[in-house]
Amino acid sequence: TVMSSPVPHTVLLAAPRSFCAGVERAIEIVEHALRRHGAPVYVRKQIVHNTHVVAELEERGAVFVEELDEVPAGATVVFSAHGVSPAVRADGEHRGLDVIDATCPLVTKVHTEARRFAARGDTVLLIGHGGHEEVEGTLGEAPERTVLVEDVAAAHSVEVPDPERVSYLTQTTLAVDETVEIVSVLRQRFPALRGPASDDICYATTNRQEALSAVAREADLVLVVGSANSSNSVRLVELARRGGTPAYLVDDASAIRAEWLDGVSVVGLTAGASAPPRLVDEVIAALGPVEVVERTTATETVHFTLPLAVRP
Ligand code: SF4
Repeated sequence: TVMSSPVPHTVLLAAPRSFCAGVERAIEIVEHALRRHGAPVYVRKQIVHNTHVVAELEERGAVFVEELDEVPAGATVVFSAHGVSPAVRADGEHRGLDVIDATCPLVTKVHTEARRFAARGDTVLLIGHGGHEEVEGTLGEAPERTVLVEDVAAAHSVEVPDPERVSYLTQTTLAVDETVEIVSVLRQRFPALRGPASDDICYATTNRQEALSAVAREADLVLVVGSANSSNSVRLVELARRGGTPAYLVDDASAIRAEWLDGVSVVGLTAGASAPPRLVDEVIAALGPVEVVERTTATETVHFTLPLAVRP
């Protein structure tokens, strides 16, 4: 007999997933600024890399711009969670803008390290993805002394003026396994290499990767809720695929394609740190009647206080 094509019967839900403390704080900052100042409140770049978050804040009066020259003098502007270079900060002051900084404190930590390492005379090898806003901001702390290392091949070929004076830093949202490999290549080449006191890959990135690994092993298909420009979300898709499970990034339930579900009985589900939790509920609803089993690999209690300018 020919069996009918099975439909998913189980969703293995990775936990932790979805919003991290830095994203929650950044969104709250825009909401508070809108309440306090009224619309419009300008935001430089997407506040967090999620199309739904941006659209919802736009509806409430946030105006997203690429650069500060699009902001009228004297207006309130929020810097996104990914951080900005000192040049952008100076530009904001120069233009007399009322700046509220939503940079995640864990990104600020990397900026502080970049300044410290450069000040002691090191070449700073910044492991990260070129063009990402966070990387642009961090590079801007010491542009003359910082070299971007994007992958293992670059770790093998990068040259520094003085191999005795070299440090590394990382973007906060990299794949933990790939970064370990890159750092180990750098350390072989530059035994004097010094790094940050504690990992720059943030707790939320690390936890979401561990949680997804635990469910991807048992899943026929992995769905990651997140937007295409969300670094940590894309890393989750790649992680599942490296482990041999087909995986797709979906902005929301409407992006799921029927053919992905062919022959799939167990779906592993997670969401990147910038993806709202309700989108995960909508994906579950769209999969039909399924048993939802949550697998928790860590409990998160991190919370960041709001900046004084918007503290209620
Ligand atoms: Fe901060 Fe990490 Fe969230 Fe980025 S992913 S906003 S670094 S907590």
